[in-house]
Amino acid sequence: MAKILINDGIADIGEKMLRDAGHEVITESIPQEELHAQLPSFDAICVRSATKVRASLIDVCPNLKAICRGGVGLDNIDVDHAKSKGIAVINTPAASSRSVAELSFAHLFSIARSLYLSNRSMPEEGSSAFKALKKSYSKGFELYGKTLGVIGLGRIGRETAQLGLSIGMEIIGVDPYIPKVELIIGGQQVNAKHTIASVSLEEMLPHADVITLHVPFLGQPVLGAAEFQQMKDGVVLINASRGGTVDEDAMLEALESGKIAAAGLDVFINEPTPRPDILAHPRISLTPHTGASTLEAQQKIGIELAEKLIAHLNQS
Ligand code: NAD
Repeated sequence: MAKILINDGIADIGEKMLRDAGHEVITESIPQEELHAQLPSFDAICVRSATKVRASLIDVCPNLKAICRGGVGLDNIDVDHAKSKGIAVINTPAASSRSVAELSFAHLFSIARSLYLSNRSMPEEGSSAFKALKKSYSKGFELYGKTLGVIGLGRIGRETAQLGLSIGMEIIGVDPYIPKVELIIGGQQVNAKHTIASVSLEEMLPHADVITLHVPFLGQPVLGAAEFQQMKDGVVLINASRGGTVDEDAMLEALESGKIAAAGLDVFINEPTPRPDILAHPRISLTPHTGASTLEAQQKIGIELAEKLIAHLNQS
């Protein structure tokens, strides 16, 4: 029986699976500054993005057999250091892809019909402004027939491209490591296959009406001033990948100049304190990094994490 600390929460089903497998599961979160003192008595820790598992913490935990991350990104874990100590690092990369893709489209639909603006202004302005607001928000656009540039054709990028195809958008994919992808359009009732080839960023940028990012943050922005220059005037930008993949100064300038009509952002540099001028911007639709935060994704994450951790603890 192993002693497992769930420090950032897990879906009930995942906790139950771990307990049913005979493990002791502690779900009371231990503050980061107390982990050095308390984690050494555990065999495994499960985190999301809040808890950091750095080398100095790993070094004081000789009993640790696994570090589990519910979700995709491993930036809060010193993965190489853990592996060098023989500690498994487990994550659930596929569980939230559909949810993130759907949130990207939630931003896009919201921007296309000014929902985020209506929801801000209608309660403030009251019914006397109804007609004026109706006029302000009557310049929406349909997504059907528009071109969607998808940067990153991994798990989430493919789901997003599939959603775009399903509503009649043209897709241009960009991924230097994936030459083409086969997409399944539709759902349980409709099922059609469609292949898209990946092109270079420079080829995609001038043609897309909407650009959505689904890449890891690798230390440099993928979109900066030079890339914004190459985009169509009035492009819509969606970022539900990672803070830092877009140069925020350049994005704000592009919003001011009209190069970007509007942006939908789920991720920010310096989370959890994004810059105030982004939060207050009238043409940015905002969510606080909730791309993976659906009931379905949390359940899939909990199940996948529990299955992988139980299998690993059985082996070790
Ligand atoms: P993935 O590894 O399956 O796909 C990423 C793809 O990006 C890969 O195919 C890779 O080849 C490609 N890529 C890397 N650099 C590129 C570049 N410069 N240009 C174009 N393509 C490039 O990852 P994923 O599961 O699809 O996740 C994508 C991103 O979404 C990650 O940053 C992840 O952290 C983020 N994410 C966000 C949320 C959220 O809540 N908003 C949730 C989960 C994941």
